[in-house]
Amino acid sequence: MIVDKIKQLKVEKNAVILAHYYQDSAIQDIADYVGDSLALARWAAETDADVIVVCGVHFMAETAKILSPSKRVFLPDMNAGCSLADSCPPEAFAEFVKQHPDHTVISYINTSAAIKVLTDVVVTSSNVRQVVNSFPPKAKLIFAPDRNFGNYINSITGRRMVLWKGACHVHERFSLEKILELKKEHPDALLLAHPECKGVILVLADYIGSTSALLNYSIKSKNQVFIVATESGILHEMQEKNPNKTFIPAPPNDSTCACNECNFMKLNTLEKLYDCLKNETPEIFLDEKTIEAAAKPIHRMLELSTKLR
Ligand code: SF4
Repeated sequence: MIVDKIKQLKVEKNAVILAHYYQDSAIQDIADYVGDSLALARWAAETDADVIVVCGVHFMAETAKILSPSKRVFLPDMNAGCSLADSCPPEAFAEFVKQHPDHTVISYINTSAAIKVLTDVVVTSSNVRQVVNSFPPKAKLIFAPDRNFGNYINSITGRRMVLWKGACHVHERFSLEKILELKKEHPDALLLAHPECKGVILVLADYIGSTSALLNYSIKSKNQVFIVATESGILHEMQEKNPNKTFIPAPPNDSTCACNECNFMKLNTLEKLYDCLKNETPEIFLDEKTIEAAAKPIHRMLELSTKLR
């Protein structure tokens, strides 16, 4: 069985498999660690394995390489990109930063290494609020690349961060009408939403948070039914942790499918994971200068988020 073969290769190569919550359930089940971007970054920085396989998207594998440059880092499918990271091209962003010379640059972890090089501090959806609040109230800040997330953080912190106008194709396309219909069908359901969703969805949400925060909320809440407005892969862990509760994926507006999946995340499969471990490809390579410069804002985030915990 492929699962046994992967387990065997993992031992032979002293490899660790890190999987994001948005991966297929079969991959989540075989991973050593399953978590959100912040957790994956922490594990990548701390592991003593020789090989790290990141079952997620390209920027997550790059982050693992930046944090563990002496390790070999693999991504089962090199085409597993991220529309949000792609919405922030380095040349255009460098020009944007130049136009705001006295600003501190805060970038969401969903960016390429080239954007991290232009960044003062990286954030994830788990720590963004604390990191933003660690700056003086009048500090001039740029937030990139997600405009929905940036607007939300501005609204809850009273900041006026200058926003790069990027977005994630998954979180942008939740249908307000279909969510309202679901709310009518399930009047007791609570709407849980990721801050990358559009403002009209966030206004309606009963709870807004990172993937980990949404999961924890579903565990602690006494409510029985939840409509979940983020990538539908998280429902696997929610259901595992709450076998008696009901989780309904919020539907997108442009499809007949009931749930909203990230096609990039779903490019990784058990077969590709097996091939990648066996053939030791595709591998992430970054030059030393990029690693050194991109590591600084990530380490700053890890230090701040540990201090502010
Ligand atoms: S869900 Fe959106 S932000 Fe997350 S990896 Fe997919 S495209 Fe990127």
